[in-house]
Amino acid sequence: MSLRLINGRDVAAQVTEALNDRLQVLRAQGINPGLAVVVVGDDPASHVYVRMKGKACDRMGMLSRTHILPSSTSEDDLLSLIDSLNADAEIHGILCQLPLPSHIDERKVIERIDPYKDVDAFHPYNVGRMLIGDPLFLPATPAGIQRLLVSYEVETRGKHVVVLGRSNIVGKPIASILMQKGEGADATVTVAHSRSTDLEGLCRRADILIAAVGIPLFVKADMVKEGAVVIDVGTNRVDDPASDKGYRLVGDVDFDNVKGKVAAISPSPGGVGPMTIAMLMENTVKAAEMSLGH
Ligand code: NAD
Repeated sequence: MSLRLINGRDVAAQVTEALNDRLQVLRAQGINPGLAVVVVGDDPASHVYVRMKGKACDRMGMLSRTHILPSSTSEDDLLSLIDSLNADAEIHGILCQLPLPSHIDERKVIERIDPYKDVDAFHPYNVGRMLIGDPLFLPATPAGIQRLLVSYEVETRGKHVVVLGRSNIVGKPIASILMQKGEGADATVTVAHSRSTDLEGLCRRADILIAAVGIPLFVKADMVKEGAVVIDVGTNRVDDPASDKGYRLVGDVDFDNVKGKVAAISPSPGGVGPMTIAMLMENTVKAAEMSLGH
């Protein structure tokens, strides 16, 4: 069986290219989409993601403002910053990079963001709209997974999708997106997690397996059905003294082990990761478009 590689970099480039026309229309009306990214503390991975988001805005000529706050920042100060960004007409999208230091209540911060500027779509208002199938925004990583499947014409209608992981950021939202009615959805979805029994058996029944557990190389060939489609969301740092950085990124799927068995696979890195950034850009453009109607 010939293996299809689902290339997230290519699809992400198409997504951002398609935004250029929408940007032109907005700019003709005097609007340049603006994204504010807030990061609190010094988690190295968070800073990498925040830099990538800022650079993506720069490449598209969009306004980006990054607020880097010390880990000692109080919850009240962070909430005041969110209030000022909510009121700022130049800012159409706001995201607060998670995780936050333990003395700050993440839910309070997420709920303070204006849902119409909530480009991460983590606000309960947006989670609810996603669940009823009438989203303002979809969260970037799961939206990127769905776009990859559509772009590579992977049929989801009536297919059994098994999602490994039940986080609010990946597992739960991708399950709720793929169970909706419509193109790139209509799937029968099973969500498996750390308390599931017979995890291997569940995975082997998947036509499409989406791995989001955060455990390096967790999915092996004996966990996938012959001819399945596998989406690897995992982005895990593992020590690598041979690399300049001292680490390298690996997915949740043991690519070399499963590649002989599956019909298609989105690798990590190079699969879902670039899509996350592209979908965030799309959400920010959409937020700017919606601001015209306010
Ligand atoms: P998380 O730690 O919040 O959730 C992990 C989930 O996996 C949990 O629901 C847990 O129940 C489940 N799990 C843990 N151990 C398990 C086991 N042994 N068997 C079955 N299920 C198990 O992680 P997350 O935020 O959902 O992220 C998952 C992975 O995806 C991480 O590697 C993360 O870095 C990556 N990620 C990538 C992107 C991207 O843009 N590419 C975005 C978000 C997350």
